[in-house]
Amino acid sequence: MKTALITGSTRGIGRQIGLDLIHENHYVYFNGRSYQFTEQDKISQQYRYGRCNVCCYDLSTLDGNLQLSYYLKSQDIRLDVLVLNLGITDRTPFGAICYDSWMKVMNTNLNFPFFLIQSLSSHIKEGGKIIFISSISGCIADSISISYGASKSAVNMIVPYLAKELASKNITVNAVAPGYIDTEWHENKAIEQIHRIEKKCLVRRLGTTKEVSKSVMSIIENDFINGQVLRVDGGFGL
Ligand code: NDP
Repeated sequence: MKTALITGSTRGIGRQIGLDLIHENHYVYFNGRSYQFTEQDKISQQYRYGRCNVCCYDLSTLDGNLQLSYYLKSQDIRLDVLVLNLGITDRTPFGAICYDSWMKVMNTNLNFPFFLIQSLSSHIKEGGKIIFISSISGCIADSISISYGASKSAVNMIVPYLAKELASKNITVNAVAPGYIDTEWHENKAIEQIHRIEKKCLVRRLGTTKEVSKSVMSIIENDFINGQVLRVDGGFGL
């Protein structure tokens, strides 16, 4: 059985990737700040079958990242797949953005994932796969969050650098850059705003978590994709 870690994955895109990896015979470490085990939830069900675990750490903090890394090393973990999925945004208007909120987005989306990879690199198997979940906001300036766009754009650029760095261990590093995907991320948006987004998209709808997960699976299966940023956005903004 292979082993995978997915950050920010008890809900949304990361959750779908995790459930699909379990289906592909991986033991999956899910992550969120908190998680309530229930009868019905699929992650809880898979946990009862011994196919996954949930690591509750706040990865927007340095402490949370250090604790996660320490926990995994104490488990003597050997990773086949590492998905840096957690991302946060900050929709504060330009004039009101303060240093701390800027740095929180940068740290969570870019800096901490980088150092998590560095910390776990000796625990990633030869032939392993590292995949960032980036965003089209790192490719085009569509989001109102400047820090979010800047962090995702930087993620897109560290991908080829890390791919070169880890090539000697036969580890590939890629990113998937989703367009607008139907998750709780958009739960506070007005329906008119969702319709505006859909109109800007060639397929005239939001994407699904399954569509993003499928692209992650295809990267995992293909050793010849390396250092790439794959846009999965339904032709947004074309
Ligand atoms: P969701 O908001 O749906 O998922 C949130 C998940 O992240 C939950 O499991 C939540 O658990 C966990 N989480 C949130 N904050 C933290 C934290 N500080 N530490 C650890 N876990 C945390 O997000 P999506 O699935 O929509 O997004 C996933 C990725 O995809 C992000 O990187 C995002 O930037 C990217 N993306 C999403 C798009 C979209 O339209 N949805 C578009 C483009 C990119 P808990 O609340 O318990 O902490």
